[in-house]
Amino acid sequence: MANEKCEDKKLCEACDLANKCSSGEKAEHEQKRLQERLFNIRHKIMVMSGKGGVGKSTVAINLAASLALRGHQVGILDADIHGPDVPKMLGIEGQRLTGSGDGVNPVEVFEGFKAVSMALLSPEPDKAIIWRGPLKHSAIKQFLGNVNWGDLDFLFIDLPPGTGDEPLSVARLIKEVDGAVIVTTPQDVALLDSRKAVSFSRLIEVPVLGIVENMSGMVCPHCSERIDLFKIGGGEKAAGELGVVFLGRIPIDPSIVHQCDAGRPFVAEPSGSVAKTAFAELVRKLLDRLEWSEEEAGTVH
Ligand code: ADP
Repeated sequence: MANEKCEDKKLCEACDLANKCSSGEKAEHEQKRLQERLFNIRHKIMVMSGKGGVGKSTVAINLAASLALRGHQVGILDADIHGPDVPKMLGIEGQRLTGSGDGVNPVEVFEGFKAVSMALLSPEPDKAIIWRGPLKHSAIKQFLGNVNWGDLDFLFIDLPPGTGDEPLSVARLIKEVDGAVIVTTPQDVALLDSRKAVSFSRLIEVPVLGIVENMSGMVCPHCSERIDLFKIGGGEKAAGELGVVFLGRIPIDPSIVHQCDAGRPFVAEPSGSVAKTAFAELVRKLLDRLEWSEEEAGTVH
């Protein structure tokens, strides 16, 4: 029986009466806090890829930013403990997470868009983190249970590439996760790995919201001819074969790299482009998958 005076809204570490609670009671408080925080988040979406470098973080950030730009409350949790790139891509790498008695405050990227990452905790961002599974599980649990996200319409969880500990932890901790968006590129090797990501999601009982084919062709900036650098259409074919939804394809666009290196989400760029339209389509399809009504969806940014 928990100590009656114990303020279980507070983090146990910040509670003066914590020494009166048993470890079982503290675990109970942690679980309760996690459930309360998650209850205030309407949609929880994992973003995964079978391999690195396919644009998973880019897709996660731009989906999240698109929704925030249209007035939704959105959070992004960078769950890539070993290679947290989200702060750099959002231009917040110089900021640090602050804490209060009842948890950690996320960094506000712009109005309605909040972010949390391991990189925002570390005083030495270039230092490698060598952690095994249980420690990573505990860090993800802290991020989900102890962050003051407030009320969110969408939380995107940017996972490290592959089918390791982190997606498993997220799936175990957030039982009611909406599902996973799987990002791939069109080459056969990337597709092979994304098939594994689909099969992994099924094994851990996370619904697959769909596959995104990134770096899908490019329009030559000089002659305007279309060049299929990494082939095209493989993601859609794989989605068809695996019986999952194809959410769309994003072309290669050099301004995605520039915006990303400058720490600004590409979709916040004012000019129109094929890639920007592709992201808008992607948002529309994702909202369809989440059965977010037209009224709520408003106009795609
Ligand atoms: P991952 O998360 O899969 O490792 P990132 O999102 O970090 O991949 O992207 C890797 C690099 O590719 C980044 O420099 C990013 O700007 C770039 N990139 C991603 N998608 C595109 C695209 N469609 N066009 C051009 N560059 C892209």
